[in-house]
Amino acid sequence: MGFFKETIDFIMSDHSAEDKSNGLMIVLRVVSCIVSVLMFVMCAYVSIRKIYPGNLIFLAGAAVLAGVVIISFFFVNTDFVMVMFVADVFIVSLLTAPVFGYRNSCYSFLFIALMLFWYDSSKSVTIRMLFSAVITALICIHSMISKPGAAQIDTLGFDYRVLLILNTVVFCFCLCVVAYFLCKENVADERKLILYNEKLKQIAGVDPLTGLMNRREIGERFEQMSKEDSLAITIVMGDIDFFKKVNDTRGHDCGDYVLKTIAKIFQDFMKDKGYVSRWGGEEFLFVFSGFNGDDTYPMMEDLRKKIESYDFNFFTHDFHLTMTFGVEEYSARFGTDEAIKKADEKLYIGKEQGRNQVVY
Ligand code: GH3
Ligand code: MG
Ligand code: MG
Repeated sequence: MGFFKETIDFIMSDHSAEDKSNGLMIVLRVVSCIVSVLMFVMCAYVSIRKIYPGNLIFLAGAAVLAGVVIISFFFVNTDFVMVMFVADVFIVSLLTAPVFGYRNSCYSFLFIALMLFWYDSSKSVTIRMLFSAVITALICIHSMISKPGAAQIDTLGFDYRVLLILNTVVFCFCLCVVAYFLCKENVADERKLILYNEKLKQIAGVDPLTGLMNRREIGERFEQMSKEDSLAITIVMGDIDFFKKVNDTRGHDCGDYVLKTIAKIFQDFMKDKGYVSRWGGEEFLFVFSGFNGDDTYPMMEDLRKKIESYDFNFFTHDFHLTMTFGVEEYSARFGTDEAIKKADEKLYIGKEQGRNQVVY
């Protein structure tokens, strides 16, 4: 098992010194290995069954391909491996077809070479078309020379069928391997893009200082919630009292510390209640889901008291702060914008009435 894994790791290892498309080299190596093993097995089978003419050709074809794979780790590029692969498969097919029949001659692996060449992004479309034309010509030549259907061994017999099944199974397996490799990168890229998009979306909706959702994000969520019939929604606009003084007397960093600390308190408070966002500078918008105004008011009173008694502590600064809140129950009749506007008006009534209060 260990040897098998080491062999696989070795085949997949990066030896792309002069080769831009290492992905292609890996697929080519894997395909060459598979076809080489197939030829060895065919050689062994026909030797055991004593169908001698042709077994040495399979053996030689297998050895050449195995050699090409080994050489590919040292200095050659994908073009060399590709040409060797095509030449090997073509010659072996041509020489073995008269004995084992057209369909047992491994020629179908030429189609895989044709497909793989289109994966080589370093080649122009013209070159790829030319290569495809060459492969098509080789397949035509092969079918003309080796006469489909003709074989020295009995095409209705046991050996013919064993070889045919072996050939077909390996060819299908090879196709799956190629498809897997070619799709793997796309799938990985797609996954990366999806994750990146999610990250971007998340960043776009988050306030970088406090980590709370921003105005845009909560606006969308509020809008979404408002579409749910019979869901009680209450919104609250909150503003820190005399926050400018904190900045002016204790510094901007201390102001940032206050915003982050308050954001954390709000986040904990709003768990299972709804959402909270940084609406602007030192203003916060809360959206309570499933709570009407009467439910929300006492909860906001508790939060106001909590802020009032909280010991803010930033380096040598120990201080207390207060906040003012405006509470407004959402009504489908007036819509979301109107609810926010009313909560804002109540907040400013609270400011005018002396701050540190919840206005409902
Ligand atoms: P009031 O009680 O009337 O709300 O008074 P106030 O001082 O809190 O209100 P004002 O609107 O006069 O000041 C808000 C201050 O918030 C001004 C601005 O410098 C500060 N501010 C806004 N965003 C940030 C921020 O991200 N960090 C810091 N440190 N300060 C901010
Ligand atoms: Mg303020
Ligand atoms: Mg303000």
